[in-house]
Amino acid sequence: MMDTCFKCGSKMNPNEYSCHVCGQNEMEDYRMIRNYVRSYPNSNAMQIANATGISVSKILRYIKNGSLTVVDNQSRRGRRFD
Ligand SMILES: [Zn+2]
Repeated sequence: MMDTCFKCGSKMNPNEYSCHVCGQNEMEDYRMIRNYVRSYPNSNAMQIANATGISVSKILRYIKNGSLTVVDNQSRRGRRFD
């Protein structure tokens, strides 16, 4: 059974994150995110996005994937909006 790449729409293995072509680009992004998280282990997705220029949704997808582990949000305490 084949799936389609969410980026370019070409056929790909459903177990893969993306097709081979897009996978190369994703790898670059992932490397950038990982390097940043390594330097700043307590960053959240928004901070990583600002620092790397990679979209928050993409970063969250990596995190959901289990490829990346970051602290979700530790500044929630003490802030109330209601
Ligand atoms: Zn693709």
